[in-house]
Amino acid sequence: MRTLLQRIIVAIISTIVLATAGALGGYVVGHAYALRQAESRLDQYADKVLLATIASTSESRAMLETMNSSSYRLCSDAEIEYFRQLIFQSQYLKAAGRMRNGRIECSTTSGRTPLAATQYSPVMARQNGTKIYKNLPPFRVDDQNVVAVQIGEAFVVYNPYNFVSLAARHMHFAATAIDVQSHQAGQLIGDTPNVSQAILTQEGTAKVGETLFATRCSKDHDGCLTAYISTADALGISRGYSIVFIAVGAFFGALSGVFFPMLYSRNKSVEQQLIRAIRADALTVVYQPIVELSTGKIVEAEALVRWTDEYKNAVSPDVFVKIAEEKGFVGEITKLVLRHALRDFGSTLRARSFFRININIAASDLADSNFIPMLDKQLGDAEVSPRSLGVEITESYTARQQIARNTIVRLRERGHYVAIDDFGTGYSSLAYLHDLSVDAIKIDKAFTKAIGTDAVTVSILPQILTMAETLGLRVVVEGIETKVQADYFAASEQDIHAQGWLFGRPIPARAFLQMLDEEEARLTKQAEEEYPAGAIVATY
Ligand code: C2E
Ligand code: MG
Ligand code: MG
Repeated sequence: MRTLLQRIIVAIISTIVLATAGALGGYVVGHAYALRQAESRLDQYADKVLLATIASTSESRAMLETMNSSSYRLCSDAEIEYFRQLIFQSQYLKAAGRMRNGRIECSTTSGRTPLAATQYSPVMARQNGTKIYKNLPPFRVDDQNVVAVQIGEAFVVYNPYNFVSLAARHMHFAATAIDVQSHQAGQLIGDTPNVSQAILTQEGTAKVGETLFATRCSKDHDGCLTAYISTADALGISRGYSIVFIAVGAFFGALSGVFFPMLYSRNKSVEQQLIRAIRADALTVVYQPIVELSTGKIVEAEALVRWTDEYKNAVSPDVFVKIAEEKGFVGEITKLVLRHALRDFGSTLRARSFFRININIAASDLADSNFIPMLDKQLGDAEVSPRSLGVEITESYTARQQIARNTIVRLRERGHYVAIDDFGTGYSSLAYLHDLSVDAIKIDKAFTKAIGTDAVTVSILPQILTMAETLGLRVVVEGIETKVQADYFAASEQDIHAQGWLFGRPIPARAFLQMLDEEEARLTKQAEEEYPAGAIVATY
């Protein structure tokens, strides 16, 4: 037997192992979930920045169109003043001016001061005439590159601070211009980690190395916006999720660590404990009286097996007999109960021919070819007549197999009394009972319990009694606890036998034998009082 200490150690170890496994599982799931969350945040962020980019691009296009349709003389004071007003009203633009062949002729910031000495080249010159400059040094602010766009001879410079309000913790972005005709792409804002152009110019989400990317594109504006974040930062942002998952994983791991071994060892050990108890002859048998209802005289006893497990818990026979049936060793219990019954009642059975002990047998007993030889042997050794031993069989067993019916026939041929137990709960039908030749039916206690109520079970009781009478079957009523219940059946003209707490609970053999002796003494005394010694009793 496993000691308590061993069980505690196993429980602690399994708790630690399963809690760790749960935490690891939680970490893996939490990690995946956190990344998923980061991806969706990144998507939202990319959408937000793209919208802002589209807004500024739309403004620059409108502005360039207005500038190009100016009726002022090119780079005249009036035109520069006009451009300044336009820039003043704009939201996203910092400066505007005129350029020719990459040379700035005039601008809203420098006026007509010639800057024409330097020639700038665009990062992208679209076939539609739009030129995009990644940087025009004269307009640099605080070391920030400025993006400029030129259409015709007009150019505008984006305010590099436009996007400051779009900054988000740990998230970065890059804007890429695309030339649809030449399939050329040029990155305008942001320094993405070294990734292929495809990541920056195709809509979607990707993980490259330790960075997550989300790209959104606008066909109308010939550009894409890529938001990105390092996985370390992404997990940092979503650390809360990971922690929750790890905690939940560890919690359930620990919980199963505590309960699994308990359930497992409990289940396993119940069966093993039962086997050990049978081998050690540690099961006990109690006996419940069955009386003749009309006289109250004890005429039978039902042997009922009892088991107290290794933890001192009394286990119900409904539970452990079932386990033994499922595991295929219920025959061992039948054998044990018979041995006890014959040992406890052998001499009583030999002396009192009116008295009988009944044992409960299982379906597998009926199918076991060793069952009848085993009965014969034990009865022979105890010198007890088969008439003194009855068997109780649950009706569902017998309805199933022909082999069970054959065994019943053989049992009755030998003189055993055979009763159908728990009658009314299973396959009770007239035809079936007629077919099955038995001595008695034991009406299930569910019917007895229903007496005094208007349950349907009560309404069929008279039918059951009539049917039994027609078939010549004795009726034994189970579960009689009250006088009302006893009176209900006593009203019948049949010779009914009754079992229940009203007449006596299941008790150990010694107490039962004492009860029998007391009953005998009482009856003898009664008889003596009715017919004192010497009185002439008429005989017929
Ligand atoms: P069963 O054969 O129908 O046994 C009668 C059950 O009713 C017993 O329960 C008994 O204690 C209970 N009982 C008797 N009078 C009253 C009463 O007035 N009121 C109430 N409420 N109950 C009453 P127990 O001993 O718990 O046995 C339960 C079942 O376990 C038995 O039902 C029988 O099917 C099975 N069993 C018991 N011993 C054995 C055995 O040795 N072998 C086999 N195969 N099955 C057994
Ligand atoms: Mg029974
Ligand atoms: Mg019963």
